[in-house]
Amino acid sequence: MEKNVAISWLINFNEKIQANSAYLNTLDTPIGDGDHGANMARGMTAVIETLASKEMLDASEVFKVSGMQLLTKVGGASGPLYWSAFTGIAKGLSAGQSIDNALDSGLNDIKKRGNSDIGEKTLIDVWAPVIKSLSTGERLTDQTIDTFVDATKDLKASKGRASYLGDRSIGHIDPGAYSSGLFFKAMLESGG
Ligand code: ADP
Ligand code: MG
Ligand code: MG
Repeated sequence: MEKNVAISWLINFNEKIQANSAYLNTLDTPIGDGDHGANMARGMTAVIETLASKEMLDASEVFKVSGMQLLTKVGGASGPLYWSAFTGIAKGLSAGQSIDNALDSGLNDIKKRGNSDIGEKTLIDVWAPVIKSLSTGERLTDQTIDTFVDATKDLKASKGRASYLGDRSIGHIDPGAYSSGLFFKAMLESGG
């Protein structure tokens, strides 16, 4: 992946996070502590500042450096998880993997960090089906991504704050799944 494609992907992701930050907080209110939008907005602001202030070597470095910003600035559960995802992508890209395979490395690192898997009502429930559809050559669209995000409504949370609610977590979209949907929509728009 070209460095400039990675940078425009993250610039686009930041725009979507800032535009949806209040909505992400709203999603995090019934099943969490209402801060996911604020967390991600703070983290992505730092990412954009860093990308603007330093010349990046390649796409791998873009994700590595951005991941560090997310780890230190997002906080909460999602900061370390997005850091793991971005570090996994960076490792994959520097090993010469395609972006599809690098995303899969990112997903594996999320699972390890979160001690979590598919079906637990987390961002994994968007990452996994997106990566599956990329690997099977299905056409990934905004609508497909929305389907994956919306499907988290029916799941019962077994990880993170939402798991404290048990059955009462059912019927709500997972905020991390929604922010990850924005990440993949930004990928589609930037030609990643
Ligand atoms: P916090 O819950 O600490 O306030 P955020 O609100 O920023 O953190 O992020 C919450 C999101 O993190 C959830 O919506 C979910 O997608 C994700 N999440 C939480 N715990 C885990 C986990 N163990 N594995 C994967 N994702 C998780
Ligand atoms: Mg929260
Ligand atoms: Mg919090």
